[in-house]
Amino acid sequence: MRVPILTYHAVNIAGNDYASNDHVAFAADLEMLHATGWRIVPLHWIVEQRLGKADRDLRRCVALTCDDGSDFDYHDLDHPQHGRQRSLYNLLLDFRARHGRAAQPDLHLTVFAIADPSARTAMDRACLIGHDWMQEHWWRAAQSSGLVAIENHSWDHNHPCLANPGPAGLVRGDFHDVTTDAKADHEIRQAQDYLAARLAPHRPSLFCYPFGHVNAFLADDWLPRNGEAIGLAAAFGDGAQPATTQSHRWNIPRYICGWHWKSPAELAAILDQAA
Ligand SMILES: [Zn+2]
Repeated sequence: MRVPILTYHAVNIAGNDYASNDHVAFAADLEMLHATGWRIVPLHWIVEQRLGKADRDLRRCVALTCDDGSDFDYHDLDHPQHGRQRSLYNLLLDFRARHGRAAQPDLHLTVFAIADPSARTAMDRACLIGHDWMQEHWWRAAQSSGLVAIENHSWDHNHPCLANPGPAGLVRGDFHDVTTDAKADHEIRQAQDYLAARLAPHRPSLFCYPFGHVNAFLADDWLPRNGEAIGLAAAFGDGAQPATTQSHRWNIPRYICGWHWKSPAELAAILDQAA
């Protein structure tokens, strides 16, 4: 298994071309992946393979994820500067309508969502557009579609816009500061419970580190001790390598659009290297 896991941020809208807009990049990448013979598979397949719970043929496969869980993931919205934006979810539906279900039968996107509604409201005001576009009403419909899974991107992202210090003495703006059981309970366990309550019978089983901040306490101590008990099977960072059966279970690498690649050619180079 050498599966590139590609990550998008639907809130990355600074223009309407590939380099400035993750919706444009996502739509182009779906077409390019399909045209070049890549198969899009659900992220949890990679985890099952890593844990020895499945033995699928994952050659020339990729998985798609997006972080932070804004309404741009699910709803088409009118950006005040850059106009109507087709949601990532609707771009999946567009792809299906164009090519038919058989073209990518396992088409899937994993959304890593932030749990705490008050933190989402604060982030919407501080960093988004202030239109209350970090809601959760679409989570269940997205999950029920079979095209999307809603997974754990922490309680509040330990975001710098929140009151500092936070609960358990959290220094805001740095997920590396999650270095005690109390801080991890606040950020990860609490988010598991909240997401599970909103999405039952689906229970999140995947975690991704805010800001890509991975520390030894979480990856080598707290998650190995507590992950399975709270329903987690694996965690994801931004290591820019294909996922393999040797990947660190609690820090499986991903590639980030706009950082590890900024153009179709750069993505093609990542895929070539993995193939
Ligand atoms: Zn994030």
